[in-house]
Amino acid sequence: MSKYVVGIDVGGTSTKFGLFMTDGEKIDKWKIATDSEDNGKHLTGHIIKSIKERFVEHSISEGRLTGIGIGVPGFVDEATGVVDIAVNIGWENYPLKAILADAFHVPVFINNDANLAAAGEHWQGAGKKEASSFFVTLGTGVGGGIIVNGDLVTGLNGTAGEIGHTVTVPHGRLCTCGREGCLEEYVAAKGLRRSLRDYLRNFKDSRSLHKDSEVIDIYEAAKAGDALAAYIVNEAAYYLAYALANAVTLINPEKIIIGGGMSAAGETLLHPLVDHYKRFVLKEADESLSFEFARLGNDAGIYGATWLVLKRLGYFE
Ligand SMILES: [Zn+2]
Repeated sequence: MSKYVVGIDVGGTSTKFGLFMTDGEKIDKWKIATDSEDNGKHLTGHIIKSIKERFVEHSISEGRLTGIGIGVPGFVDEATGVVDIAVNIGWENYPLKAILADAFHVPVFINNDANLAAAGEHWQGAGKKEASSFFVTLGTGVGGGIIVNGDLVTGLNGTAGEIGHTVTVPHGRLCTCGREGCLEEYVAAKGLRRSLRDYLRNFKDSRSLHKDSEVIDIYEAAKAGDALAAYIVNEAAYYLAYALANAVTLINPEKIIIGGGMSAAGETLLHPLVDHYKRFVLKEADESLSFEFARLGNDAGIYGATWLVLKRLGYFE
């Protein structure tokens, strides 16, 4: 009898679900609003209810559920199943795995959302053919995930791949993590907005940007030749190239996959990025590496959460 896996991706505004069969076929996907009221204490209840309702709708008995995978935006310890901290949700030292396992009596695997997006792209997306890849997601902040020899590298406490918090500019801008000069303060939406505020006064002749300009406007203006926008995008590409080149030198992957909302900038970002990257990277580590944009979009997380269950339960052996 066929068995099922539920892959969940908890986001700041919505929580996405995927219902998969254990052979990897996707049966359904849906989402609910993320309820972060009262430090997110109602959210897991909503998640449990939503899964149970969906099983009833599909006339699938809960006994055919094999496992649940769930990605969370924050610091997550897969081994203990505890969310150390997820600022946007309000969870702190939150025993997510235990609560879900109690509700469904199946194995539950939790991880960081960027790690699972990396796993999703590795399984069904841009990294499908490669055993090793580095995934970087450019959204509000910068996240990352490492796949080596077909497995996710999470590190001792689950912080492996956190490229957004690698120090790229010593003594640079103050980061929300409390340290100075982290990559994400210069790249993605967070960094670009900050650069815009910092540099606007030096570029009084910028034709199209003002202090409240959207990030997409910065890329559009850069494409149209605006000097301030081009400066900001080039600087972001430079720092991202620097961090990625060091990641490649350390990990030696076959592919760098760029995902997240900002990957929509396309060539406007990729062209200067690869240009700077080539000057930073160790030639031997880069020999057969290629850059690619992510393919699964917002679904990468539910694919990765499902992959985590199948991987940990030995379905790929
Ligand atoms: Zn930081």
